[in-house]
Amino acid sequence: MSRKPRITVAGAGALGLTTALALADAGAEVTVYDPSPEGGTASAVAAGMLAPVFEAVLDAQTRAHVDLMLAARDLWPALEARIGVTVDRAGAMAVGEASFLHTVDAGVRKLGLHPTELSRNAMIGLAPGLAPGWGHALLTREDWRIDAAAALMALRRACEAAGVTFHARAADGFEGAERLVIATGMGRDLAVMAPLLDRLSPIKGHILRTEGPAYQGVVVRGEGAYATPAPGGLTLGATMQAGAEDLAVEANQVAGLLEAGARLFPALATAKLTAQTGVRAATPDGLPMVGRGRHHGVLLAVGARRNGWLLAPLVARIITACVTEGELGPYAARLDPARFDNT
Ligand SMILES: Cc1cc2nc3c(=O)[nH]c(=O)nc-3n(C[C@H](O)[C@H](O)[C@H](O)COP(=O)(O)OP(=O)(O)OC[C@H]3O[C@@H](n4cnc5c(N)ncnc54)[C@H](O)[C@@H]3O)c2cc1C
Repeated sequence: MSRKPRITVAGAGALGLTTALALADAGAEVTVYDPSPEGGTASAVAAGMLAPVFEAVLDAQTRAHVDLMLAARDLWPALEARIGVTVDRAGAMAVGEASFLHTVDAGVRKLGLHPTELSRNAMIGLAPGLAPGWGHALLTREDWRIDAAAALMALRRACEAAGVTFHARAADGFEGAERLVIATGMGRDLAVMAPLLDRLSPIKGHILRTEGPAYQGVVVRGEGAYATPAPGGLTLGATMQAGAEDLAVEANQVAGLLEAGARLFPALATAKLTAQTGVRAATPDGLPMVGRGRHHGVLLAVGARRNGWLLAPLVARIITACVTEGELGPYAARLDPARFDNT
């Protein structure tokens, strides 16, 4: 860049902070606004799975985009080194009834990959505390994981060290900058400048955290629940409540999640649990809107649905390329907000 462009980033979630850091590293003068003290309505509560394979297998809207998801995951080692957060590469294991495992096996093979079939003993070794009744499991090492809350803090620290300025309030607009990156999750108060925000819809999610001995196994993906390691316990996620945008904890959602989780890890039935909620922002096709908005100088980085952490470094790279007029790369067209212009 010949002259430092001034950029406002609205939103300090996974997408806003990763993008702010990439822009600062590219030489821009970046200011981040976010009224939420902990930053990231969804980002702070997320399980932190970087899961291109099981997401493509278990989530219909993701299925066609495994190449993009793998490419995003492959940007994580550089981000890991940049912000000093650990990426857990132990993998993820599908556990369940024979019909579920059959579907997972067929799905993984359709992607051209081969899951490893695990015996009962191997399963228990990789997932201590797992219910002993399951016959076998399928492991992929392609799916990774981070601690989302730790990553959010590490990003914030890295941004500050890179000269990014923070303001603990909402951005009303450009705030004096030449470009505005809208990374406001499900927030739509900047829709005047970016009418495409109206294409977002909310998906509320409940997630449970246990307190107790830390679970140090691999991620376990079952029917109706997944379990991931978490500092001082285990994280059990997550509900998908399309259309809901409030953050209230609902007893029936917690009960359903816990029931599915206890089928995987029986000790969960009596564990001390804390319930949290977050709201994912989703576009009609399940992929985020990343790139130039309709209004001059406005860039969108929103709508990452259930894979915002996985996609964050790819989103950051595309937005940075838009600003520096660099190479947008092979995935930018698929994420271009303009795909919704006439729909
Ligand atoms: C229960 C749950 C589990 C999940 N698990 C995973 C997972 O395992 N792996 C994964 O990849 N993804 C996961 N996700 C999805 C992921 O959390 C989201 O896709 C991602 O966090 C979205 O990040 P974001 O930065 O777009 O939005 P957010 O995290 O929602 O951040 C947006 C921020 O914008 C701020 N804001 C709003 N309006 C304004 C304004 N006008 N000015 C300034 N700031 C504003 C808000 O305060 C907020 O802090 C999960 C989500 C949930 C809810």
